[in-house]
Amino acid sequence: MKTPISSIGEFGLIKRIAEKVNLYNKNTIKGIGDDTAVIDISDNKYLLFTTDLLIEGIHFNLVYTPLKHLGYKAVAVNLSDIAAMNGQPTHILVSIALSSKFTIELIDELYEGIKIACNKYNVDLVGGDTSSSITGMMISISAIGFVDKNKITYRNTAKVNDFICVTGDLGAAFFGLKFLEREYILYEEFLKENKEKEFQPDFKGYEYLLKRQLKPEPRLDIIRFFYDNDIQPTSMIDISDGLSSELHHICFQSGVGCRIYQHKIPIAEEVYKASEEFNIAPETAALNGGEDYELLFTISEKDLHKVLYSKDISVIGQICPNTEGLHMITQQGNKIELLAQGWIHFK
Ligand code: ADP
Ligand code: MG
Repeated sequence: MKTPISSIGEFGLIKRIAEKVNLYNKNTIKGIGDDTAVIDISDNKYLLFTTDLLIEGIHFNLVYTPLKHLGYKAVAVNLSDIAAMNGQPTHILVSIALSSKFTIELIDELYEGIKIACNKYNVDLVGGDTSSSITGMMISISAIGFVDKNKITYRNTAKVNDFICVTGDLGAAFFGLKFLEREYILYEEFLKENKEKEFQPDFKGYEYLLKRQLKPEPRLDIIRFFYDNDIQPTSMIDISDGLSSELHHICFQSGVGCRIYQHKIPIAEEVYKASEEFNIAPETAALNGGEDYELLFTISEKDLHKVLYSKDISVIGQICPNTEGLHMITQQGNKIELLAQGWIHFK
């Protein structure tokens, strides 16, 4: 049998792997299926364990990704998964594979970015692995962190009537990538026609979008806010694939549905401007764009008043019974079904 991976997609493939996995250790509390694995290591804390792989040409293009930013982002996306469990990251391992086109100076730049992220988030780089590659660069970072047992927050524990919240704003990283891709195409055309002058990419007015794409921040400040204000989210996930896809994960795993309101989705001013240039609706970028690395979480009514006045948190809807499905109420009052675009990676 020769079945293409595209027939089941990324999530179908992970499900297939998960179904064949046996767990042998009693202290494995959570295996495949959440933002990190969860391991019981002490009386009061769980260890969180996660990894992410970035491949040149798939996840990044070195023509428009400075290596320092790439190093920073590679760390940030791992820390974001630890944050999504309501945890604190502590250690990372960094493995790289490099083709002969890379110089020592370039690798210094990559590690400069990794170092800045470690310093900012108080995380220790404690090892890794180095290999050559036939073409391009691969970076694999694994992170561990810790969470108090009574504070751990999974994806599968959202309850009917809980309020749905997101941090920061959504859709900006998607348009940041759109601008970088557009300027890259212009740059290639420029190279063909005019080798004399220097190419000047034009990002004026869109610096925020670029920052969101190139240098995302894990929302560990929000985890601190929860801790300080005694807020216990009922479920949580980080937004790497777009709001819609992450809502599907929470709802599917929790056996519930949801209703969100279009006008409550937090969207930055620059996203509205960019959406006109690219003729893509801002909500489409927020729902399906991905790479914002904000947190999507639910809270019970008793905690609602504690987040209402936070400028970093927007309440966008409510969890419903499973039978109601997943939908968004538009500004005109129409009800539209939420589709999970992130589920078709291999297509
Ligand atoms: P995230 O976007 O939060 O990093 P993913 O969508 O990459 O999460 O992964 C979802 C779940 O599947 C996680 O629990 C992850 O550890 C697991 N997973 C992903 N790929 C594999 C794999 N190749 N083998 C085993 N588990 C995997
Ligand atoms: Mg995640």
